[in-house]
Amino acid sequence: MTWDYLIVGAGFAGAVLAERLASQLGATCLVLDRRDHLAGNAFDSTDRAGVRLHRYGPHYFRTNSQRVVDYLSAFTAWHPVEYKILSWTHGRYWQFPINLNTFEQLLGRPSTTEEMERTLTEWRVPIAEPRNSEEVILSQVGERLYEMFFRGYTRKQWQRDPRELDASVCGRIPIRTNRDDRYLGEKFQALPADGYTAMFAKILAHPKIEVRLRSDFREARQHVRYRHLIYTGPIDEYFDHSLGPLPYRSLRFEPETIEREFFQPAVQVNYPNDHDFTRIVEIKHATGQVLPATTIVREYPLAYAPGGEPFYPIPAPDARALYQRYAERAASEIDVSFVGRLATYRYYNMDQVVASALTEFEKLSAR
Ligand code: FAD
Ligand code: UDP
Repeated sequence: MTWDYLIVGAGFAGAVLAERLASQLGATCLVLDRRDHLAGNAFDSTDRAGVRLHRYGPHYFRTNSQRVVDYLSAFTAWHPVEYKILSWTHGRYWQFPINLNTFEQLLGRPSTTEEMERTLTEWRVPIAEPRNSEEVILSQVGERLYEMFFRGYTRKQWQRDPRELDASVCGRIPIRTNRDDRYLGEKFQALPADGYTAMFAKILAHPKIEVRLRSDFREARQHVRYRHLIYTGPIDEYFDHSLGPLPYRSLRFEPETIEREFFQPAVQVNYPNDHDFTRIVEIKHATGQVLPATTIVREYPLAYAPGGEPFYPIPAPDARALYQRYAERAASEIDVSFVGRLATYRYYNMDQVVASALTEFEKLSAR
């Protein structure tokens, strides 16, 4: 048969588009993923200790978009969570992201928003338009807090100096002078009540959608017939790296189950200056599961090599310039849509990917 849509990738981009096209246009959709599971990088499953673990790093769902919440709520109930994390440096835990409590820890005495704002005005490096990740932090909090919390973490994570990364990388971490100690600033913060994978199973449960796992587009394209392609994999791979490989960062996850209720005081502890890992995540704090044991995951940044996992596109001018050349090629492909984090080479959160898939659906349905 000839499918209306061949969709490469069963992550947020692919699954949302398949659901919309099947349910709203009655289109037949074949969804391929070379992994052995749905949900892309948001995949979760229960480990031997009973913990619902996020296989590819913690996925904290958050958004300011009511459209995205309304859309996903058709497929899941929500477990509200206020993600709170800590940073470990100089031999102790610090409240993070930087807020009034952190400032008090630094002073060793109570303080006020007014005093913190006054002090930051003295500490800030005057930079009118921060051009990179060093400048964006220096311009908000100055050298001392930058060195404590950002420089080491960023170098470890990206293997680049913060000066070589877009301002948006470190700039996505809020800095506050009140006592709001949530990691994220968005209005809506919650996890799918039964996990991401269960939500994806519902999104994709439509008679016009067929999902084939362990199935690679590079092989399937030889024999599958389709009218339109939706591609959510790495854009450089689509073009056989003909303009050269795009850079990515990868990660190694090291899980460990511990026979006690909790290991650490928060869902995530960042290690900007100690150890080779960047953070330890204990997801049980966020899933709200009540279990006698716990599982923690240490995250080690890794160079990306072909055959590995391209977890992060690199938000930097040199990488973007190469991506732009691929994007020009993509624009002239007929009947192909490039959607999602890897196909558009953007450091997107899940809600941004859902929003861009909904927008792509509108474009496709207007044709
Ligand atoms: P993906 O989820 O990457 O899905 C693409 C799929 O395409 C993959 O499953 C892949 O196997 C498949 N594929 C690729 N090429 C082929 C091929 N040739 N043939 C067949 N299949 C193919 N976002 C948040 O909002 N909050 C968070 O807390 C958060 N934490 C994150 C932590 C980490 C460590 C990482 C890496 C990402 C995190 N994200 C987070 C981002 C989130 O994972 C992405 O925004 C989202 O998963 C992107 O969805 P996608 O569909 O674009 O891509
Ligand atoms: N970052 C940092 N110190 C921290 C946390 C984050 O310097 O304690 C910087 C780092 O460059 C990181 C970026 O901010 O890559 C974004 O952090 P986030 O926690 O959002 O990263 P993700 O969950 O996407 O890996």
